[in-house]
Amino acid sequence: CGIVGYVGSRPCVDLIVAGLRKLEYRGYDSAGVAVVGASGLAVARSKGKLKNLVALLAEKPLPGTTGIGHTRWATHGKPSDENAHPHCYGGVAVVHNGIIENHLELKGALTAKGHVFSSETDTEIFAHLVSDALEGGAADLAGAVRTALAQVSGTYAIAVVSARRPEEIVAAKNASPLVVGFGQGESFLASDVPAILEHTRDVVYLEEGELALLTPRGIRFEGPDGRPLEKQPRRIEWSA
Ligand code: GLU
Repeated sequence: CGIVGYVGSRPCVDLIVAGLRKLEYRGYDSAGVAVVGASGLAVARSKGKLKNLVALLAEKPLPGTTGIGHTRWATHGKPSDENAHPHCYGGVAVVHNGIIENHLELKGALTAKGHVFSSETDTEIFAHLVSDALEGGAADLAGAVRTALAQVSGTYAIAVVSARRPEEIVAAKNASPLVVGFGQGESFLASDVPAILEHTRDVVYLEEGELALLTPRGIRFEGPDGRPLEKQPRRIEWSA
């Protein structure tokens, strides 16, 4: 339902949770964050309101300056800790808004290859597909996400981080909204602009089929055909 992402030099968890709070009005049943830090990928997620996640994070802080967060509105799989996003597999973490229509048939194929699934969601398949593409020799995280996207049908706004790529978030969109924001030595991502407006007013709304690679040094875009795209930020003049 809500997505927030950050890559830069600041500890990211508080900033991500604050962004998710700005999206609370949309409704949700669970929440979570994934952070790539010095010791790899770490995740905290909880059924219920953001305060449950905040309590979890107080017990188990997630240090790191690259992260993605999510508030979930369940479509596939009941609201539970296990079904809350981010979903992880093989050092890859994914948050997703929308519905992956063909997840069961994809799950069958990967289960046959030895993959073990740990949730009832349609979303989890995406972490497996990206991990599989990286194992299969994808050139980079963006390429692995492209390979995964080519196999799924449905609607998505998606954000992916990998333990192998500590300073990258890959985001892609089909039918569900996604916006990226430019900062000084940092980049932002959200499903709706109020979540990041405190930090940046220079944003790009992704169009259908587009992909974005966020790093502390800037944001690169690819079109639906995988070719690099030039996109100019627009300035948001209003206040949330
Ligand atoms: N279909 C996904 C799920 O049920 C995403 C739901 C959402 O958009 O929050 O986990």
